[in-house]
Amino acid sequence: MEAYIKHLLTDILEAERPDQPVLQYAYPEFIDDSQEEDDRWPDADPVHSFGYYCGLQQEQFPPAHMLSTPQLERLCAAFSKMMFTWNLDTDIPDDIPTPKKYQLLVSTLDIKTEINDSSLTTFELCSFDPPSCPMGEYCTCKQFLQDDALENIDDYQHGE
Ligand SMILES: [Zn+2]
Repeated sequence: MEAYIKHLLTDILEAERPDQPVLQYAYPEFIDDSQEEDDRWPDADPVHSFGYYCGLQQEQFPPAHMLSTPQLERLCAAFSKMMFTWNLDTDIPDDIPTPKKYQLLVSTLDIKTEINDSSLTTFELCSFDPPSCPMGEYCTCKQFLQDDALENIDDYQHGE
C-alpha cells in the first residue's frame, strides 16, 4: 500500500493548479440558456465537479480503513494544499478524526463548483441538520441547533 500512497501523493501534487490565477475574472461556461434574462449568473448551477478541474477521481483513493494514520495524514495534508491552489476550502472542523476528514475531503471531488480566481470558495459540507450532517457529532451544527431551537431540543434528544 505504501507504494500506492506515494504514487497517489504524486498524483495529488500534479493536480495542483498549474498556474497562478490570472487576476481577471473568468466567467464560467454556461449551457446556452440565452432566452432567459441576463441576471441568471448568481443562480446558475456549476457545470463541472472539482474532480473535473483537478483531474482526480474518488476511485483513486483507497477506503480510509485500509490506510494507516500517518498515511491518512499525509494524504489529507496534500489534498488540502492542492484544494487551496484552486481557491477551494471546506468547513471540515479541525478536530474531526483523520479517517473522517480524509473521507470528506475525497468526497469534494464529486461536488460541482466554479473555480474562482479572486476569492476562496468554501465547500459547505455541513447540512445544518445534525442527524444527516456528514460530519455528525464533530460538527458545529449540533451546537447551532441547541442554540437556535431550544424549544425543539427535547424532540431532538428523545426523538430517535
Ligand atoms: Zn453539520
